[in-house]
Amino acid sequence: MPIDATQPYDDQNIFAKILRDEIPSNRVYEDDYAIAFHDIAPVAPTHILVIPRGSYVSWDDFSARASDAEIAGFIRAVGTVARDAGLVAPGYRLLANTGAQSGQEVPHLHVHIFAGRRLGPMLA
Ligand code: C5P
Repeated sequence: MPIDATQPYDDQNIFAKILRDEIPSNRVYEDDYAIAFHDIAPVAPTHILVIPRGSYVSWDDFSARASDAEIAGFIRAVGTVARDAGLVAPGYRLLANTGAQSGQEVPHLHVHIFAGRRLGPMLA
């Protein structure tokens, strides 16, 4: 069910539980600002999610409220995850669904990294 990106942060959302290690994930990266794990239902040969450690509902919430250090740290983490996975030369796509019409389902900011095959044109 797509979420309302203006809702308050719910610390019982599934990615909050993954951050607290209350439920398992296939984690590939972590630092002070972000963790990354393989998507449970990949739609490309490589499909990784990168999420900030801070409690932000969406890209909108993060860009409005996060500190400069958190924003820099998170963006660097996304780049590092892709680089460490060897995705720079073949290429990859980033996606951050935000709110209901985008189809965002989990109310904790996540950036998708898609790679590993020729990706089609931008989604309609
Ligand atoms: O952008 P959106 O909110 O639709 O993406 C949520 C993503 O979280 C989905 O790709 C889904 O497969 C993934 N997911 C996951 N592990 C969970 C629950 C959802 O990787 N436990």
